[in-house]
Amino acid sequence: MQFEDDKPLDPSQVEDVRASGPQPGRGGGGGGFGGMPGGGCMLPIGGRGGGCLLLLLALGAMFLFGIVPTPFTGDQNGQQGGGQQPSAPPALSPSGNLAERCKTGADADQSEDCRVVGTVNSIQSYWRQYFRDNERKEYTPAKTVLFSQAVNTGCGPADSAAGPFYCPADRKVYLDLTFFDTLQRDFGAEGGPFAQAYVIAHEYGHHVQNLLGTMSKVGRDNRPGANSPSVRLELQADCYAGVWAHNAVKTGFYREPFTQEDIDQALSAAAAVGDDSIQRRTQGRVTPDAFTHGTSRQREQWFGTGYRTGDPVRCDTFSDGI
Ligand SMILES: [Zn+2]
Repeated sequence: MQFEDDKPLDPSQVEDVRASGPQPGRGGGGGGFGGMPGGGCMLPIGGRGGGCLLLLLALGAMFLFGIVPTPFTGDQNGQQGGGQQPSAPPALSPSGNLAERCKTGADADQSEDCRVVGTVNSIQSYWRQYFRDNERKEYTPAKTVLFSQAVNTGCGPADSAAGPFYCPADRKVYLDLTFFDTLQRDFGAEGGPFAQAYVIAHEYGHHVQNLLGTMSKVGRDNRPGANSPSVRLELQADCYAGVWAHNAVKTGFYREPFTQEDIDQALSAAAAVGDDSIQRRTQGRVTPDAFTHGTSRQREQWFGTGYRTGDPVRCDTFSDGI
């Protein structure tokens, strides 16, 4: 995937609250996992982050790519509601640095965080147009917050172990870029820029569900299970990610249509985080009653449905056969 060099970016859609600021040289080195407030998840075990995955699963994989219920109930992560909060990283001037560095598509090709800006811009540009043409309402933009280690959100405190998530209460997507290393190393995904784009587009899929009222229709029923509302919401978000991928070039941010190699990165990421794959790796067996996001096959299929059709209407995961 290559951005259109001269396409202006809108860095105000991404808020950067990372403690250490941008990490231009990051990637592949395995560094960057510092001590984490309140947990040993990021302790480098043999130089790897393997302990992180275990803690993540102990917390419940439902948060992975998920929607954080609002507010936290207090039984996650041993937190008592309103009690101890992870120490928030020092606030930087919002988007200050990104505003200076991420000006055009050429910048998005150069650095990871500017690429996030470009991706978020394209995703929201697509949905803005879709809402204008097909829904009788305006698309309300949602910011992505780049954080490191821990962050306070409208849905309560969260840390990196939860993976990227969307908080319906403050309508923001939260993303710790080190998650993408974890996705590759611990979940066995291929990785790559388009895997990132898929994850971000999936989270914006939840924002669209929020705006369209799908999320409130499902309500607070977050019981797990192969046919659960939670799985249906997640698969629909995968489908919406595919829809964006189909239409992304039309947004003007990308130079040419995505290649099969790009799409394979997304499919690999989708497969890596299927409930059955995660369960098989961690508990050695598959228990559909505990599904929250759908199987690897379902996640690939629904991303594919969105990508092939380019039509959000085809993302009806709430009809019977998923
Ligand atoms: Zn999700």
